[in-house]
Amino acid sequence: MKLQRKKIAIVGGGPGGLTLAKLLQLKGADVKVYERDLNKNARVQGSPLDLHDDSGLAAIIKANLLDEFKSNYLPKADRKKIMDEHAKVFFSDHESKVEEDFGNPYYRPEIDRGALRKILLESLQDETVVWDSHFISMNKQNDGWLLHFKSGNAIYADLVIAADGANSKVRPYITDVKAFYSGVTMLEGNVLNAKDAAPKISALLNGGKIMAFGNEKNILMGQKGNGEIGFYVSFKTNENWTSNSGINFSDKAQVLQWFKKEYHNWSSLWQDLFENAVTPFIPRPIYCMPLDQIWEVQPNLTMIGDAAHVMPPFAGEGVNMAMRDALELSECLTSDNYNSLQEAISVYETNMRIRASAAAKESLDNGEIMHSENALKTMLDFFSGH
Ligand SMILES: Cc1cc2nc3c(=O)[nH]c(=O)nc-3n(C[C@H](O)[C@H](O)[C@H](O)COP(=O)(O)OP(=O)(O)OC[C@H]3O[C@@H](n4cnc5c(N)ncnc54)[C@H](O)[C@@H]3O)c2cc1C
Repeated sequence: MKLQRKKIAIVGGGPGGLTLAKLLQLKGADVKVYERDLNKNARVQGSPLDLHDDSGLAAIIKANLLDEFKSNYLPKADRKKIMDEHAKVFFSDHESKVEEDFGNPYYRPEIDRGALRKILLESLQDETVVWDSHFISMNKQNDGWLLHFKSGNAIYADLVIAADGANSKVRPYITDVKAFYSGVTMLEGNVLNAKDAAPKISALLNGGKIMAFGNEKNILMGQKGNGEIGFYVSFKTNENWTSNSGINFSDKAQVLQWFKKEYHNWSSLWQDLFENAVTPFIPRPIYCMPLDQIWEVQPNLTMIGDAAHVMPPFAGEGVNMAMRDALELSECLTSDNYNSLQEAISVYETNMRIRASAAAKESLDNGEIMHSENALKTMLDFFSGH
């Protein structure tokens, strides 16, 4: 194996980096994950993730973690309701969805981000993840790289894999190509103990997801395993809305006032979310890598996941692409079919760019539809067709 006696550094312990570490360890590789979080108990932000059969789940199966996944996923969280701004339900699959359907290519079980991280972490050899390792820079040394961290530590690796997400600090060592703003910003909020805090919405949600469309805007929400509801309002605006809006996102009254103004013709039901959310709210301008990006292959450096191809979340592909990258890269790096690591990286990157670009196109197109005048009708046609 070409990885023999090679030290591999994965920068970033998100779903992509941890999956890759696991798959490489199964092949006997010497791998460490350098993660900026202080320890394994750091809170993982964001909504639950649905894993797809040919990507996220395929990686979980390859990592021998399907049983752990089955013990930790959220069985009813993939049920959805499609509603309008007046909180009228137009579509619901709560009655018709079967509970567990692993093996069906359309089955997309949901799991909390924290639970997914825990499963992957617990599957790794002790001390694989080096916490409190905030990557700052690296320079070439011998045939590899010397990586420098905020803590002052420096380590040598023969092969570096960037898995440090959308604002990757490793990516610039591969390419200057940058992500572009998609035209959409999402504002994230969380309601703790939602059954008591927001009983009406909680009953409507019924453990699943809601997508509400109106006036070229959305509200998207989902049940989390710990009793929280995570929600996003999603709307078209300029790239610098976060700072230009003048909103203090730690001030609930200011955010609620903004919501009432911007979503003025929406039912007052939705205000429950804002009134009962914890602060701060998190603004997330949505970015996408160019679909035709290309770079020169390197012999000892590559990237996976959002670092390589951040895309809007409107096709639910981000984490799935990251885990599929991990699967394909681990196979390329440990295959006997290639003459060098550079050739293995080249094959991985070529396929990854094609696959990620198709997913990014779908995500951008869905984003357009979901923020269009006809969003409700188009989404209803789409889901009724399935
Ligand atoms: C609002 C929103 C909603 C989304 N919803 C979905 C969805 O429903 N389904 C879906 O599939 N995807 C969704 N995504 C996308 C998904 O979150 C990402 O595609 C996925 O998390 C990418 O995984 P990753 O491992 O590449 O990167 P990340 O999950 O971003 O992980 C990167 C890791 O690197 C660490 N890190 C960052 N910088 C450094 C550094 N300098 N040094 C060391 N460590 C570092 C971070 O702490 C983190 O642990 C959503 C994204 C957004 C913004």
